[in-house]
Amino acid sequence: MIRKEYRVVGIVQGVGFRPFVDRIAKKNGCTGTVCNKGPYVEIHVQASKEQVAAFRKDLEALAPSRSAILKIEEKTLPVQEERNFQILHSQKVKGDIFVSPDIAICPDCQRELFDPSNRRYLHPFINCTACGPRLTILDSMPYDRVRTSMKDFPMCPSCEKEYTSITSRRYHAQPVCCNDCGPELYLVGQDVHGKDALRQTRQTIVQGGIVAIKGIGGFHLCCDATNPKVVQRLRTIKNRPFKPFAVMVRNMEVARREAEIRDGQEEVLDGYQKPILLLKKKAGKIVPEVAPDNPNIGLILPYAPVQLLLFDYPDEIDMPDCLVMTSANPKGAPICRTDQDVIENLSDICDLVLSNNRPIRLRADDSVLSWFDHQPMMIRRSRGYAPLPFMMHKKGDSVVLGIGGELKNTFCLAAKDLYYPSPYIGDLSDIRSVQALKEAIERMEELLEMRAELIVCDMHPAYQSRQLAYELGRPVLECQHHYAHILSCMAEHQIDQEVIGISFDGTGYGLDGTIWGGEFFICDTHTFKRVGSLEPFEQVGGDLSSKEGWRNAVSILDKEDWQGLDLCFQDQAELILQCKAMKINTVTSTSAGRYFDAVSAILGLRKVNTCEAEASMVLQFAAESYQGKALDVPISMQEADFFILPMKALCTFLAQAKKSGEDIACLAYTFHVVLAHWICEGALQASRQTQSKMVVLSGGVMQNVLLLKLCKEELEAQGFTVLTHKLSSSNDGGIGLGQAYYGMENIRRTKVCVSDYPQK
Ligand code: ZN
Ligand code: ZN
Ligand code: FE
Repeated sequence: MIRKEYRVVGIVQGVGFRPFVDRIAKKNGCTGTVCNKGPYVEIHVQASKEQVAAFRKDLEALAPSRSAILKIEEKTLPVQEERNFQILHSQKVKGDIFVSPDIAICPDCQRELFDPSNRRYLHPFINCTACGPRLTILDSMPYDRVRTSMKDFPMCPSCEKEYTSITSRRYHAQPVCCNDCGPELYLVGQDVHGKDALRQTRQTIVQGGIVAIKGIGGFHLCCDATNPKVVQRLRTIKNRPFKPFAVMVRNMEVARREAEIRDGQEEVLDGYQKPILLLKKKAGKIVPEVAPDNPNIGLILPYAPVQLLLFDYPDEIDMPDCLVMTSANPKGAPICRTDQDVIENLSDICDLVLSNNRPIRLRADDSVLSWFDHQPMMIRRSRGYAPLPFMMHKKGDSVVLGIGGELKNTFCLAAKDLYYPSPYIGDLSDIRSVQALKEAIERMEELLEMRAELIVCDMHPAYQSRQLAYELGRPVLECQHHYAHILSCMAEHQIDQEVIGISFDGTGYGLDGTIWGGEFFICDTHTFKRVGSLEPFEQVGGDLSSKEGWRNAVSILDKEDWQGLDLCFQDQAELILQCKAMKINTVTSTSAGRYFDAVSAILGLRKVNTCEAEASMVLQFAAESYQGKALDVPISMQEADFFILPMKALCTFLAQAKKSGEDIACLAYTFHVVLAHWICEGALQASRQTQSKMVVLSGGVMQNVLLLKLCKEELEAQGFTVLTHKLSSSNDGGIGLGQAYYGMENIRRTKVCVSDYPQK
């Protein structure tokens, strides 16, 4: 007889881990205990040596699919007098905390949901140990019902019985409930509940209405994606002419009808995270208004029971099998979480609000993935992924908060070797998002039981995120924006040696007070040297120049080249040239994003962005539609210690070619090819100043999969190792991770600022 203690560290909370341990202990004839300690699960088992060995084997081999075991520590204990195996009450101890992300409804629950003989038939909150909300309903750890927003719903005797019965799928499933004891659907502002509320919602959608529906991490705006009129109405009232809407499809069959689904994409689409996946659109039933001028479509499968019921319910209503499902938020503000949020912000947009009385504690938008090089590529990391940590093999010795950037804010809390990215917060130009950021930091610090000793922020003097960093009253370290982009990719790949970092991006504050955004660095985790950039140009007109690409085109090109391109009226152009000459509202910029905007305008594709990156996306789509070879461009890049990519000459070439009637798609493609070639050339020039043959590609522009592909191929052909983003985001959503990595690597080496908010 022997007795062992196993400490299992990882995502072992709220995934049915203790019931699983209980089952395999009994199966292998072991006595002992299992206890949820918060940071880990502690197991004591006692049996013959062979039985314990069999138990140990099962522990790893048969662990629930949603768990993630990071390590198992083992200890031998003295044998005790004992008769059975027991699950003990949770005991909180200090240590690393792993909070489970929310998990999409599992196939078993899906089956029960539509089984008339099941007592949870059509129950909109059905869940089990393998599925259901986690992070978004959690108050504190360890994960037990009393510490979730389910604490207001005492279990009925039948649920209680399942909850305590070892043979049940809901043994110790914290959010367990049923039609008798669970939360309830209702229509906001009306006395309509339960199945009537659902029926009326379905009716409204079929009749061409727009409804707000409370999901797992917030509200969605939903309408029939096969009805052009309602989709157009949604566009008009949201003032969103271009930005594509995500579409929830009834099932995988419908997904295959609407989009090309290739190698491995089905698995990601149908995985238990259920993200939005960007796919090639097919001619299906989804109307073009859902994603105008866009060859791609973001599809998502239902992941909350209420969403399944939207599609299928035993009433006489014939629902469409594709629904627009877009985050319900006022422009720029975070996703609506409470009824109050919706009433205040969206009452004039939607015809109906389907809510429920299970509170959402922490917002989580749907995650968005793109596809690159046979693998998923993160665009927005939120529900289903957050707060799954990135684990480093290197241990820091403090707690650091990377507070994130200004757009697409996501922060990252890091302790020792674990980096926990927050769910998506939003754009901080909106004060409500700043408030949401503040709340989310507090909640995450509470949940993970850590308090950051150091906060890392961007250097931009006008950023709200920077101001908040100083307001929190802890030591602050500033990290340059594009360097943070590179660091985020290095963190994901656990790299700390010197690399060539290429950061192509929209806008970021440079060390010299100009706008950066097309940068070549030689850097490690401590410092960076800027060795090259795109050719600087004068960005005229402040914020307008980020929205209206034609302004940059006028500023970049000579008069004889922009004339005849129909970019703007003569007097508009004159004004820009005057401001440029007198340096009024003008800033020097190397932003790649702005060059993409300018080229899009020059080629007559898009003069204005109605949403972020619209002009560059349209430029990319045009290039991707081209089947031939790129034009020969007779411009070469000079060699220098600090090299410049000759963008003005390239823009001039494109303008002249456009005027002489060259094919637009060919020119768009040529622009991509030349840029990628120069990026590779830049890497070669940089590599003369470093031993490193490793290139890191980051920044928002690197979400352009055509550019990314062209760069990667050419760089690899030149013998470089190329690192790109996969599970972290290359846009500003990844900044927090990079900042946290910087803080952790430098907290003991760098003098940090503890003063008040410094004005620049
Ligand atoms: Zn389930
Ligand atoms: Zn019940
Ligand atoms: Fe950026």
